[in-house]
Amino acid sequence: MRIANIDGRLALAANNGYLDVAKASDGRFGPDPQAVFEDWSTFVDWASRFDTAAHPVVETTEQTVWGPPVPRPRQIFAIGLNYHDHAAESGLDSPTVPPVFTKFPTSLTGHEQPVILPADTVDWEVELVAVIGTRCDYVSESDAWDHIAGVTVGQDLSERSLQLAGPAPQFSLGKSYRGFAPTGPELVTVDELPDRNNLEIGCAVADEVLQQGRTADLIFTVPQLVAHLSAVCPLLPGDLIFTGTPAGVGGARKPPKFLRPGDVLISWIEGVGTIRTPLVAG
Ligand code: ZN
Repeated sequence: MRIANIDGRLALAANNGYLDVAKASDGRFGPDPQAVFEDWSTFVDWASRFDTAAHPVVETTEQTVWGPPVPRPRQIFAIGLNYHDHAAESGLDSPTVPPVFTKFPTSLTGHEQPVILPADTVDWEVELVAVIGTRCDYVSESDAWDHIAGVTVGQDLSERSLQLAGPAPQFSLGKSYRGFAPTGPELVTVDELPDRNNLEIGCAVADEVLQQGRTADLIFTVPQLVAHLSAVCPLLPGDLIFTGTPAGVGGARKPPKFLRPGDVLISWIEGVGTIRTPLVAG
């Protein structure tokens, strides 16, 4: 199953387009894309039985606003240095416990949404984003996938000057400017994936591939992260986990390279989707 946030309304992907869930379900499920996570198991059950062919599809045009599939999570966790090659390019040892920070939820945006560059040191970090489907309290690794609603493509955009300012790095604020968490276009349930543990992931600007890796190289896997985080605090339906980025970020290059106004950042994950992020001047 694939769902999206189209013009602020929950949409279900069908063979020939998207259905408006509130209309197709006669109001059983509301239009708010966030609310569905409060009743996720029921929704999955309904969607799996629903005859999508019998319902009209939503018109999508160039004016369509692709919102983040999860627009208002209560918590966003993000993991630093979760690929060996990215830790190495950052000049750091691979972590033995996951470095965790947050991206504040107001940084979320969707596919095709322009993002303002507040400085000339904004970097890219393509990431697999896991979405919590049911509350996690002390969840074991072996049970963790059962608590995941699905995954989506994310960018952990990072203003390196603010991130690295001060006597100790302050990851959260430098990664939470407006629009610094593009996600989407769809949330894809795990059963749709070719291999939930091994997906190609990458990003590019124009013809230049900037990052290309595989999620099989995650140091801490999605189940390990769920177990680690939920041992400290409950993970709530609709929460997001940005799982970390592979090598190829601009700040680690010599000389460093950052996003420029006019760039269009393309981010993809095999079997999940592709998001386009146009960057504009502040
Ligand atoms: Zn990141």
